[in-house]
Amino acid sequence: MIPVEFDYKKAISVEEALEALSSGDSKLLAGGYSLIPAMKLRLNQPSMLIDIGGIASLKGIEEEDGQIIIKAGTTHNDILNNDLIKTHLPFFHEAASMIGDVQVRNRGTIGGSLAHADPAADWPALVLVAEATIDVVGTGGKRNIKAADFFTGLFTTALAENEIITAIRIPIPANGSRMVYLKFENPASRFAVVGCAVLRSSDKKTTIAFTGVADYAFRDTAAEQVVSGKILDTNTIADAMNAAVYGVNVLSDNFASEDYRRHLAKVYLKRALQAIA
Ligand SMILES: Cc1cc2nc3c(=O)[nH]c(=O)nc-3n(C[C@H](O)[C@H](O)[C@H](O)COP(=O)(O)OP(=O)(O)OC[C@H]3O[C@@H](n4cnc5c(N)ncnc54)[C@H](O)[C@@H]3O)c2cc1C
Repeated sequence: MIPVEFDYKKAISVEEALEALSSGDSKLLAGGYSLIPAMKLRLNQPSMLIDIGGIASLKGIEEEDGQIIIKAGTTHNDILNNDLIKTHLPFFHEAASMIGDVQVRNRGTIGGSLAHADPAADWPALVLVAEATIDVVGTGGKRNIKAADFFTGLFTTALAENEIITAIRIPIPANGSRMVYLKFENPASRFAVVGCAVLRSSDKKTTIAFTGVADYAFRDTAAEQVVSGKILDTNTIADAMNAAVYGVNVLSDNFASEDYRRHLAKVYLKRALQAIA
C-alpha cells in the first residue's frame, strides 16, 4: 500500500499545469480520493503529480446564459451546499449528498470524478441525463465534449493525455421539469451498485441514465422512448422497465450478480419514474 516514488508540483494556474503535463509521465492531482488509492495499489505509477487543487479559476459554480457552470475543481460538498444547484438542479444536490462520506465529499471534485470515469461513480449519470457539455483545455487549445461522447469505456474517457477538464456546463432545465437520482449503494463505500437518474420536462421529454450497471455510465434510449411524450401510468412504467438495460453488457461482482444488477436497474428506474410522475 505504498506508492512508487514521485515528484510533486503545485500548479497555480491552468497554463502552468498544462506545461507541466506536457513533460514526462505526469498526472493531475485534484482531490486525490481516486488517484491516491490507485497509486497505493500501484495501478497508477506516475513519475510526477501536478496538484491542481489550489487553482482558483477551477473552483466555483456560476449561472450564465441559461446554464449552470460547475468548475472542474469544485468539491462534492460545495455542490451539495450551493444555492444555484438547490434551485435549478436539485438532483445534483441529492447526488452530492449520497457520495462517500464527509471526507470524500470535502476533498473529491466533480472534474476528478468525471476524468476517472469509475463505472460506479455518481456524476457520470447526472451529466449524461442533464445533457451537459464538458469544457477541456489542452496544449492544442480548448474544446467542448458532449457528456454523451465523454465516457468511452471502463475508466476511459474522450480526454486526451494532456487535457484538463475546466468546467461542466449544464443547461438549466425548463420550468416545470422534474428530476431525480436514486441509487442502490455499496454499504461500505456508497459507490453505486446501481444508480438511476431521470430528467423529465413538462412536455414529457424524458432522459434516463444509469451508472454502476455497465463498464461506463450510459443513456438508456430504449427506455427513454417508451416514456417520452406519455403519461407515467402503471402500464407505461412497466413497459419502460421491460425496455430498460436491453442489450447492455451488465457487470457482475461480489456485490451483485449480472441478473441481480439488471433487476435492480429496472426496479430503480420504476422508483425514479414513480417519484417524478
Ligand atoms: C471511500 C471512498 C468512497 C467514495 N464514494 C463515492 C461515491 O459514493 N460516489 C462517487 O461518485 N464517488 C465516490 N468516491 C470517489 C470520489 O468521489 C473521488 O473524489 C472522485 O472520484 C475523484 O475526484 P478527485 O478530485 O478525488 O480526483 P483525483 O483522485 O485527484 O483524480 C482522479 C483522476 O482524475 C484526473 N483528474 C483530476 N482532475 C482532473 C481535471 N480537472 N482534468 C482532467 N483530469 C483530472 C487525475 O489525474 C486522476 O487520473 C469515493 C472515494 C472513496 C475513497
